[in-house]
Amino acid sequence: MEKLWSPWRSKYIDSFKSDEDKIKCIFCQMVDLNPAEMNNLVVESGKYTFTVLNLYPYNNGHLMVVPKRHTNDFSGFSKDELSESFEKLQLAEKVLRIYAEF
Ligand SMILES: [Zn+2]
Repeated sequence: MEKLWSPWRSKYIDSFKSDEDKIKCIFCQMVDLNPAEMNNLVVESGKYTFTVLNLYPYNNGHLMVVPKRHTNDFSGFSKDELSESFEKLQLAEKVLRIYAEF
């Protein structure tokens, strides 16, 4: 598989790194920030997930539903985490469809 490479994003990614945060991934660091610190990109926050717009979107409405618990194992999601993830994806799609009509 060919890898996407976006070197112009390195400055943004590196902005999340501090000496004490180097052990946290970018998404775990986002959980600890308030919306203003996130350039108001976080559009929704649930118990297990938050929804964030991509600062450098590939297309209109490019967003992510991110688990608040650090994991690289999607199959290890609890039923509650999985349920909320898909509920938030569904909500995002509904909102984007509404905005697409304007
Ligand atoms: Zn993490």
